[in-house]
Amino acid sequence: MFAFHESLSRVDLAFTDRHGGESTGPWASLNLGAGNGDDEATVRRNVAAAVRALGADPSDAHLMRQVHGADVRVVASGAPPAAHPEADALVTARPGAVLVVRVADCLPLVLADDDAGVVGVAHAGRKGVVLDVATATVEAMRDLGARRITAWIGPRICGRCYEVPEQMRADVAGRLPVAWSQTSWDTPALDLAAAAAEQLDKAGVHVVDLADDLAVCTYEGETDFYSYRRQGVQSGRLAGLVRVRP
Ligand SMILES: [Zn+2]
Repeated sequence: MFAFHESLSRVDLAFTDRHGGESTGPWASLNLGAGNGDDEATVRRNVAAAVRALGADPSDAHLMRQVHGADVRVVASGAPPAAHPEADALVTARPGAVLVVRVADCLPLVLADDDAGVVGVAHAGRKGVVLDVATATVEAMRDLGARRITAWIGPRICGRCYEVPEQMRADVAGRLPVAWSQTSWDTPALDLAAAAAEQLDKAGVHVVDLADDLAVCTYEGETDFYSYRRQGVQSGRLAGLVRVRP
């Protein structure tokens, strides 16, 4: 169910793996994303199971229609969970609200100020990193009263696997030099996690990269993770989840 799960004094957060759900075939088993051919009712049950495993009520889950942008939505009091806003980040200071970001290879970012009780999630693929959705999320959390923010970078494709055309690497690394990378098979690549970590560090955020402790490359981790690069359009989706306990 969870590749990583932590409960702080006020905040619960987790990143899922692909185990413990009801999906079968290429989506087996904890696919949390729709629109990839999997049965939508099964996906809803999987999302509910992940939210319950966090200790929360599935009716409190807030998901997004992610579009590789940098728009941040605030989940305010009384926001209807069923309305999936078009956004790539969610923030809230509302206890009980579970924020969910879904990915397969892109970076799932979970952020929290455990003292202030302010949390956020962000979806950062190549476009999101270039647009700096990470810093936009941090600023939106500060508007809600966050001061000392920690960000967790969850399972994603690593800089040794994320192959891109030479020109794309040149364009991105021209803006974000730390993103320059080479695959393990010696072709041009990008290290998006390194770039996001640098953005978060510059924004004054403490960064915890799960790759420092766990094997979390989605492309290499066929047993435990989904990977869009490896599985194509039928790829399932992992999630990062966070809430302030009610
Ligand atoms: Zn890798």
